[in-house]
Amino acid sequence: METVLVLTYTETDGSLAKHALEVLAAAKAIKGTLVVGLIGENVQAAANRIAGCGAARFLGATGKDFAQARYGSDAAAAEAICRAAKATIVIALATSRWNRILAGVAHRLGGRADMHVTDIDAADAIVVTRWYYRQRMEAAFQRTQRPWVIALEAGCAQPWKGDAGTAKVETVTVTLSDAAKRTAVTGVKAPSADQQTIRPDAKVLFVAGAGWTKKQADGQTHVKDAEKLILDFLGLTKASLGSSKSLVDLSGEGQAVLPFMSHLNQVGQTGATPRHPKGLSTCCHGEEPHAVGWRFINERRAINLDANCGWARGKADVLYVADAFEVIRKINALLAGKK
Ligand SMILES: Cc1cc2nc3c(=O)[nH]c(=O)nc-3n(C[C@H](O)[C@H](O)[C@H](O)COP(=O)(O)OP(=O)(O)OC[C@H]3O[C@@H](n4cnc5c(N)ncnc54)[C@H](O)[C@@H]3O)c2cc1C
Repeated sequence: METVLVLTYTETDGSLAKHALEVLAAAKAIKGTLVVGLIGENVQAAANRIAGCGAARFLGATGKDFAQARYGSDAAAAEAICRAAKATIVIALATSRWNRILAGVAHRLGGRADMHVTDIDAADAIVVTRWYYRQRMEAAFQRTQRPWVIALEAGCAQPWKGDAGTAKVETVTVTLSDAAKRTAVTGVKAPSADQQTIRPDAKVLFVAGAGWTKKQADGQTHVKDAEKLILDFLGLTKASLGSSKSLVDLSGEGQAVLPFMSHLNQVGQTGATPRHPKGLSTCCHGEEPHAVGWRFINERRAINLDANCGWARGKADVLYVADAFEVIRKINALLAGKK
């Protein structure tokens, strides 16, 4: 019989992220005893939020030392909770905070860790799925080694829904060495939500291609227009912004560029493989190295002047053969009218 530990941390306001609820739902599908381990300054509110999840125990590593992401304290707290729970299976969030500690924690416990897991099938044996070689090959595998630490990617399970209540949290004592505490986070510098164009939770991915910066029917480029149309669209829809490689590479070639675009926005073989329910590609040719990054976008549409572009060859559900400047201008006007 497995002891399944959900290992998570609280957000700065003490709440649980949607990703944590997804991990909880995935863990509940595994037969065994469920334990919840929470790390944060104060975890009572988070434990109460999921009090009805059926966990046999709620374990907490709490205090100011655990408020911030830091390898030393996070790894020590995670290790202590895994030991206190006597966990054989640990299901954790595949976030940047957890991804950097989980291999080390598994090593300390004499276990194994698998990262970037996209599915856990627990109908019979526990079989996890993950992608290799830049999302080209999918592997499904099991492990006999325990404890087995599994980091589940966001958006791969339905979040747990259930009753809140009052949970009894057992405090787990964590002894931190001076070395574990030597890093201090003094502040966070991040763009405001409106400047932040990569929005993993957005319903729509809006991709801009190099066509936005190319000469148009009048023989001129219209980069300033393009910038305004794209930013207005993002502001009105809160879509996430993706790009083709050609567009983000242009800045390196000294051409007129869209200043809010960086390599972080690049979608494709050498870029990201985002997950959104819908995607709209504009002024982008839809070549294979780009379109391969769309494999997790469920419904794909594209706007291109060229009826023979890559999207027309089975890569998009709908291709609008049209001028993206005109279409997006019209859509923005309609959306603005609705507000
Ligand atoms: C090893 C390797 C890895 C690569 N990895 C990636 C990757 O990760 N991601 C990626 O994106 N690419 C990648 N590429 C590059 C990829 O092959 C293409 O070169 C790139 O995606 C083309 O970008 P684009 O479609 O924006 O530009 P273009 O090919 O220049 O296409 C511009 C399009 O805009 C259209 N257009 C112009 N004006 C308008 C208008 N007014 N309205 C509507 N449409 C208009 C044109 O018809 C054209 O189809 C890779 C290539 C290689 C060799």
